[in-house]
Amino acid sequence: MAPQSPSDSAADEVRAALAPALQRFGPDYWREQDAAKTFPTEFFDTIGDAGYFGTFIPEEYGGLDAGARVAAVLVEEINRSGGDAASINAQMAICRTLVLHGTEEQKRKYLPGVASGGIRFLTVAATEPDSGANMAELASTARRDGDDWVINAGKILISFAKHTRLMILLARADEGTTLFLLDLDEVGDKVEMHPIDLVAHRMTSSLFIDDLRVPDNTRIGPVGGGLACLMKGFVIRRVLAASEAIGNARFLLDRSIEYAKTRKTFGELIGVNQGIQYPLVQAYAKVEAADLMRWDVLDVVDRGEDAVPRSAMVKVLASEAAWETSRAALTTFGGWGLASEYHVERKLREGTVYVFNNLLMNLIADRALGLPKK
Ligand SMILES: Cc1cc2nc3c(=O)[nH]c(=O)nc-3n(C[C@H](O)[C@H](O)[C@H](O)COP(=O)(O)OP(=O)(O)OC[C@H]3O[C@@H](n4cnc5c(N)ncnc54)[C@H](O)[C@@H]3O)c2cc1C
Repeated sequence: MAPQSPSDSAADEVRAALAPALQRFGPDYWREQDAAKTFPTEFFDTIGDAGYFGTFIPEEYGGLDAGARVAAVLVEEINRSGGDAASINAQMAICRTLVLHGTEEQKRKYLPGVASGGIRFLTVAATEPDSGANMAELASTARRDGDDWVINAGKILISFAKHTRLMILLARADEGTTLFLLDLDEVGDKVEMHPIDLVAHRMTSSLFIDDLRVPDNTRIGPVGGGLACLMKGFVIRRVLAASEAIGNARFLLDRSIEYAKTRKTFGELIGVNQGIQYPLVQAYAKVEAADLMRWDVLDVVDRGEDAVPRSAMVKVLASEAAWETSRAALTTFGGWGLASEYHVERKLREGTVYVFNNLLMNLIADRALGLPKK
């Protein structure tokens, strides 16, 4: 059976609702945010006003409960128009951990504000200087003290840390990795942050927390069960990351094709040259394949089957396709590809965020191919 993309009318509805915002916040808006290294507050609030931050939030908590296909179309369209959907993706998707594993009290307190955009929930703080990607061997600790927890943590490369109010922090309790919901309006003065400057505009920081005392009602999910809770959200997060990459790739393809049809050198259009055509054709074919696969992954989810290996595959395929498209776009634009006014170099930099795929390939090797593990 062919994978089910969202019905044309559902996807068209999202596109129609987004169109005025995407026209108002064109590529030059994003170029300015990138150059000034600022948070895209106006755009973020516009998407919040449209209700999309409630895409994964049940209606009883003020959400839309619209599901992953709507979220996938949304982030793709933002990137396809030259924007950067990273903060929108984070606000929509990170709260799923709270929806799935939070207490009733936590959900009532925070989800309506997250759905409206009034409360920013943009951050999961997992990565550490020593353990890197290995979330099972954290040095950050959470120690029980009566009804409270005392947290000591050091984290690196944490996106949007200075711009979020809510943050999920991973720390190691005696029983294993445990999740805590930090409300930085309440405990922000105990979290020391230092910005880390990256080629991609992700507003990352390192964090240091010394002896932060929080009540047990800040914990999400079971003590020691934090990784399992977090991992339940990974399938959808990979599909959304793939959708962002597909949006970036399509933005670059649209622009490159247009440029190849209009730019003349040596008395002819550059697009007549196979040296320009073939890289674009290769990239286009790979983006189309990744596009089909992301709907297939969501079909697998809907059928209640294991979507983990395929979600890893679509993230790898889409990010690689987008990376290849950036290269093809550079070839097409020549020297102008490096000038910020053409937006190719910015999309190339934004694409770097998605190409760290080794651990996903480990997962595919293990779960899909059954290859031996170390
Ligand atoms: C733009 C950006 C935003 C980020 N935002 C966040 C965030 O919001 N929250 C957060 O917690 N983290 C965030 N990170 C951190 C990101 O999750 C880590 O970079 C990633 O987990 C890898 O950790 P590391 O950089 O320390 O690399 P390391 O763990 O030191 O790994 C180095 C390299 O070795 C590879 N490698 C390591 N072990 C293996 C293995 N067993 N098999 C094959 N290859 C291996 C890795 O894939 C990587 O390529 C962000 C990173 C970036 C670049």
